[in-house]
Amino acid sequence: MNGLMLQKQLLISSLIVHADRHHGDTEIVSRRVEGDIHRYTFRDCHRRARQMANALTSLGIRPSDRVGTLAWNGYRHMELYYGISGMGAVMHTINPRLHADQIAYIVDHAEDQVLFFDLTFLPLVKTIAGRCKTVKAFVAMTDRAHMPLDTGIANLLCYEDLLERSSSTYVWPNFDEDTACALCYTSGTTGNPKGVLYSHRSSLLHTFAAALPDALNCSARDVILPVVPMFHVNAWGIPYVACMVGAKLVFPGPGLDGQALYELVEAEQVTFAAGVPTVWQGLLTWLEQGGLNFSTLKRTVIGGAACPPAMLHTFQDGYGVEVLHAWGMTELSPLGTIGALKARHLALGPEDRCALQSKQGRAVFGVDMKILGENGQELPWDGVSSGDLLVRGPWVVRNYFRNEGGNPLRIDADAHGWFPTGDIATIDADGFMQITDRSKDVIKSGGEWISSIEIENLAAAHPAIASAACIAAKHMKWDERPLLVAVKQPGAQVTAEELLAFFEGKIAKWWTPDAVVFVDAVPLGATGKVLKNQLREAFQDYLLPT
Ligand code: AMP
Repeated sequence: MNGLMLQKQLLISSLIVHADRHHGDTEIVSRRVEGDIHRYTFRDCHRRARQMANALTSLGIRPSDRVGTLAWNGYRHMELYYGISGMGAVMHTINPRLHADQIAYIVDHAEDQVLFFDLTFLPLVKTIAGRCKTVKAFVAMTDRAHMPLDTGIANLLCYEDLLERSSSTYVWPNFDEDTACALCYTSGTTGNPKGVLYSHRSSLLHTFAAALPDALNCSARDVILPVVPMFHVNAWGIPYVACMVGAKLVFPGPGLDGQALYELVEAEQVTFAAGVPTVWQGLLTWLEQGGLNFSTLKRTVIGGAACPPAMLHTFQDGYGVEVLHAWGMTELSPLGTIGALKARHLALGPEDRCALQSKQGRAVFGVDMKILGENGQELPWDGVSSGDLLVRGPWVVRNYFRNEGGNPLRIDADAHGWFPTGDIATIDADGFMQITDRSKDVIKSGGEWISSIEIENLAAAHPAIASAACIAAKHMKWDERPLLVAVKQPGAQVTAEELLAFFEGKIAKWWTPDAVVFVDAVPLGATGKVLKNQLREAFQDYLLPT
């Protein structure tokens, strides 16, 4: 027997409609690429998102078409989030920090029809425009006065001109909630970047869960600063959460240094901020150097990479800001676990409390997790046994876009599909998960992925190199940096500088290893694979000051 409740599809557009109707005068404040601070309201945002839907229609965008963005966190990006997904097209956020060749690959793979970009990324767009065969129009996210001249980009349009020409009368269409709403490529896997295609339903369910008190704990009384980029898994869902709860939003644009962030936090009375450890390190250094304090900031969610215990301690005990350590993935929309304490933990002393909060946290409702041992057996939740972390849930990826890399799921004895995260973890009796290592062959530097395999392939292409392994070494500022361990061809001569010069122009500059260590041989396993864990153990402190 079916229930007798109304059917209403869970659609992204309902979030901005709700924000307009119930929190219409709540502000969205943005630091703009043009240099100034822009402010308007959810009502303005909704009006302009409707204009954008009309503008996209006039550009020939139809439901399910992909529309790309190369943009910072800002109000125009927010309008695209709602305009594109709301009309039934797919919002494809692109990470501008990738190498131009990778971006061209992604645009082509996604078959983006229109590409929106912030002026910061004009040089990048100029490089790739000729290779983006599916893109019918490039739109500079600025006004007429700031439009660049003589760019050589065919069919370059101006964002504000587009909106000005478009009516704000638009009724958001109703459609199946399983329709795709957004696409985000992850380079945190081996091989080519892979697209994770979110649906309206998965995103709405994720939004409900993310806003909960033991998750991001957001309300209409909050002022939220998402420093985590809108091109990284939808800024951890905050552009959606803010609309659901009616929180004021503060977008930092390109200003990610300590001073710019601090000024924004204080001027806009931010209560809650979200970002990766590297960005927070810059902010903490600025505070420390200036002898400053936060006057309104109460909570921060730190994720994307492990939050160092010292940072946790400084935020909480030095500045009175509660830290929520979170773990997630592009493949998880991204929220998986968050370190909200249970009642009995409130009595813990500062050291034990900090140790618990340094774990990656408890699963939010909707996410199931388990850890498997070497033979695929399920391991106990004893806080000691560590194994491969697998997850499942309604906002966990089922397959990558266009089946790239094949089916990623592992099927268990009950025929349930589980997504292998590539992380190795323990889970304690309270359900707190802790990442202890990583089985995937990638390096995460400042919250961004570096493919060790690509670096190894390039190194191996050097005539003086017999074999090479690239590993993550600990780094004070960037958390991890690539370190190349290389074996020379017999009799060959090459210096570290010469080898590093060989990478120039072939990969993004920040992917270049920080150092090269020449060894006689790299340790190999039974199947001939390099034993990276042994290398990591031997060289993990190599880049740290001694
Ligand atoms: P991404 O898809 O770029 O968000 O990367 C997801 C991966 O980042 C995870 O599988 C982890 O390897 C890593 N990661 C994310 N959050 C954390 C965290 N809090 N601690 C340690 N690693 C993390």
